Amino acid sequence: MNESTKSAPSKHIAQNAELTETSTGKETRQPLRLAVLGATGSIGRQTLDLVAAHPERFELVTMSVNSRTDEALKAVSKFHPQTLAVCDEHAARGIRDIMKRDFGSTELVTGSDAMTEIATRDDVDMVVTATVGYSGLLPTVAAIKKDKDIALANKETLVVAGDLISELLKTSRTRIYPVDSEHSAIAQCLEGEERDNVHRLIITASGGPFRTLTAKELEQVTAADALRHPNWSMGAKITIDSATMMNKAFEIIEAHHLFGIAPDKINAIVHPQSIIHSMVEFKDGAIKAQLGIPDMHLPIAYALGMHHRIAGASGYLTFEQMHNLTFEQPDTERFPCLTFANTALIRKGNTACIINAANEVAVDAFLHGRIRFTDIFDVVAHTLENIDYESSPRLEDYIETNTLSRRKAEEYINKYKVIN
Ligand code: NAD
Ligand code: MG
Repeated sequence: MNESTKSAPSKHIAQNAELTETSTGKETRQPLRLAVLGATGSIGRQTLDLVAAHPERFELVTMSVNSRTDEALKAVSKFHPQTLAVCDEHAARGIRDIMKRDFGSTELVTGSDAMTEIATRDDVDMVVTATVGYSGLLPTVAAIKKDKDIALANKETLVVAGDLISELLKTSRTRIYPVDSEHSAIAQCLEGEERDNVHRLIITASGGPFRTLTAKELEQVTAADALRHPNWSMGAKITIDSATMMNKAFEIIEAHHLFGIAPDKINAIVHPQSIIHSMVEFKDGAIKAQLGIPDMHLPIAYALGMHHRIAGASGYLTFEQMHNLTFEQPDTERFPCLTFANTALIRKGNTACIINAANEVAVDAFLHGRIRFTDIFDVVAHTLENIDYESSPRLEDYIETNTLSRRKAEEYINKYKVIN
């Protein structure tokens, strides 16, 4: 059994906070000083809700946005962070004068390295990675090198470079707290359990808005249709990934890297009600599940609380909501993107990095009405076939793979896929 298919857990995924504090020699500071990357997004805004509700526990030291500066200014006026990072230079220019005039005590940092700059500040204890896509990789790598704790929402970091992140964690004091609801559920189910007793992880999937459509109907769906997720309100990219089930493929890869469980022991099951957020089956046949209303405030609070519970994080379930919990096997004929999880975990190397890059390009093209929903799979599959395989990538190889894969995916779309 090689390193990445071992069943032992990483010491960096907390079983409980005390245990990890001992294993990393770190103390938990109160209030916990946060850097929130992607503060204006769906996860970012819900993180700020928690900070506002618990000023005794959390302090927003610094935050980043890409270009939504109006929302950023509102957050600055509410939380008075030390720095605001605006990654888009053009958007940053638009608020430079207002920042100087009205928020002189908050420093403005800008540009593509701004997230890395704020994620590695000495006065930050925990980085919440709520930025979307590949953009999370470099700041997360830098934060791990600086021993920062991480509340990880940006699953793409583990998809793109999970092996590299695992390698970096071996020499870091970083503790990773998953924000993704499925991985939070698994972490909760693993509390107090010996990992050698885990038989398999069962990741639930809502099935998205198109669960019941035929293959023919899927060819006609629009971005507006796909953005109407039945249970969760999320950013646009992850909502499309949920509709194609690429999100579930990514979550299988994420679970493999987070929990050190072999790929053949991680299954996805469609559970349209999104009440059970995931399950762990143990060797003796017992299954533990975590249930709750579909509300990301809960997993965010469990991560920021470093696996201690925060009262009132979300609402309570009623038995009426639970009277009809159903399950079905995912259909990989209609939703072939799910099969990319296997491809990535068997081929390893830079495979998942290629898949992620092509998917980002394809999702963006679909959101802009340039390609059809069913083309997303083709774009990723084509890119995967046409980018060189690298078995042991280093950081610079991931960066290069990402650039080349995006270019290849874009070329393919322009040549063969653009809808008139
Ligand atoms: P979102 O699109 O709502 O927000 C993304 C944030 O990242 C915004 O603040 C945006 O300004 C910033 N950003 C985007 N591109 C950037 C770039 N190139 N450089 C710098 N900043 C950039 O996304 P979201 O739904 O909040 O998702 C964030 C992450 O959390 C994703 O990785 C997603 O998969 C994961 N996640 C989200 C949910 C959810 O409920 N929304 C659930 C589980 C996991
Ligand atoms: Mg999820």
